[in-house]
Amino acid sequence: MGGIFGVVSNEDCVMDLYFGTDYHSHLGTSRGGMAVWNGSSFTRSIHSIENSQFRSKFEDELKNIKGRLGIGSISDTEPQPLTVRSHLGQYAIATVGRINNINEIAANAFDEHKNIHLLEMQKEAINATEMVSVIIDHESSFKEGILKAQDMIEGSCSILILTPKGIYASRDRYGRTPLIIGSKKGAYSVAFESGTFPNLGYKTKYELGPGEIAFLNAEGYEVISPPRGKMKICAFLWVYYGYPSSTYEGMNVEVMRYRNGALMAKNDNVDIDMVGGIPDSGVGHAIGYSNESKVPYGRPFIKYSPTWSRSFMPQDQITRNLVARMKLMPIPELVSGKKLLFCDDSIVRGTQMSETVDLLYRANAKQVHIRSSCPPLVFGCKYLNFSRSRSVMDLVARRAIKDIEGKEPESYDEYCDPKSEKYTQMVECISKKLNFSTLKYQNIDDMLEAIGIDRCKVCTYCWNGKEE
Ligand code: SF4
Repeated sequence: MGGIFGVVSNEDCVMDLYFGTDYHSHLGTSRGGMAVWNGSSFTRSIHSIENSQFRSKFEDELKNIKGRLGIGSISDTEPQPLTVRSHLGQYAIATVGRINNINEIAANAFDEHKNIHLLEMQKEAINATEMVSVIIDHESSFKEGILKAQDMIEGSCSILILTPKGIYASRDRYGRTPLIIGSKKGAYSVAFESGTFPNLGYKTKYELGPGEIAFLNAEGYEVISPPRGKMKICAFLWVYYGYPSSTYEGMNVEVMRYRNGALMAKNDNVDIDMVGGIPDSGVGHAIGYSNESKVPYGRPFIKYSPTWSRSFMPQDQITRNLVARMKLMPIPELVSGKKLLFCDDSIVRGTQMSETVDLLYRANAKQVHIRSSCPPLVFGCKYLNFSRSRSVMDLVARRAIKDIEGKEPESYDEYCDPKSEKYTQMVECISKKLNFSTLKYQNIDDMLEAIGIDRCKVCTYCWNGKEE
């Protein structure tokens, strides 16, 4: 994934930019960067945030960065923001998304404009942000360039462009991820996460629609290209990766999780002593479940966060599993002899969940019931860059289906239908594989009811494989 943040102010904006970008750290684990216009040039800094947090990497540099306009980026992929000189002038650019047809766009660009080149990034990949800047530079204005890029890109791409006069903000064409404008006296900002605003003194002013483009300066913002018709915002924002304090399309993440957990509890009847949440995003769903079921909420295990930073991600699977286990500490007094139910945001590969359940059984839990806050993930996301599951065959639901069928089925429809026999078989197979006492998944209708916005506007592709 990734996150972007920008600010334009009448005064120095660097501290707002620093904290505002840092508040997007849950969206990416690879690179963090900031670019600030200092009145005559850009000051830019990019660091790896693989083994330490964003703030610690930038705090020593803050005294040397000054300016009233800036953009910041947290990225899982390429280093950003990039700074560019072109016929449009000097600018800095940061993006969030996934360009599925990047090689085709590059090949077309080489055909049409013989005199361009693209820098190769790690693993011979093209830098997606650079590709977007190349598309923009071939048009006569930033607006035309952004519109062209949004038309060409298959996948999704939200864009911030910092110029000496202000920031262009463009939400991705189908609004899969959010982009929200905030304001305070003498300053405007734009964020992926609206939860960034209150502590920095901003109030939410306007949420860009799908494909909409706005230009911000310290005095205000102007919509320079209206929203396009169709919206397909990612449902996973509320279920898993959005920050609890953020609100998208009028629905706050934490509130959605309480509603979602309550709906799961309404459809459940299991005899348990305590409800817990798998940290961090399972917690809101579990609180909702506990409130509705009247079974007490508790923390039968705790994540040891003082030294295990969230972003620490060893390369090999054995060490990853070991780290996952070491991070969690059971509380024997709350686990031993108890029937426990945990809500998790989702079950992706299942390896981490299986480790957690083992840990609880080793601490003498009597039963461990698992509730997934969204339906089984049967399809990989093709619109956003998720590092959680690189291959669709890693998905535990796909592995279960393969076990049942002995091969890849021609259609997954029945496995996406909770009323079908095959769905029941798949859930039982996953539950057995991961050693749960019982397993239930939230259904798609209740999840959409918890989100509460027009369901036609919400992307649910990874659960039902339906693109429209
Ligand atoms: S496929 Fe899933 S993760 Fe991807 S945008 Fe759609 S709902 Fe979100």
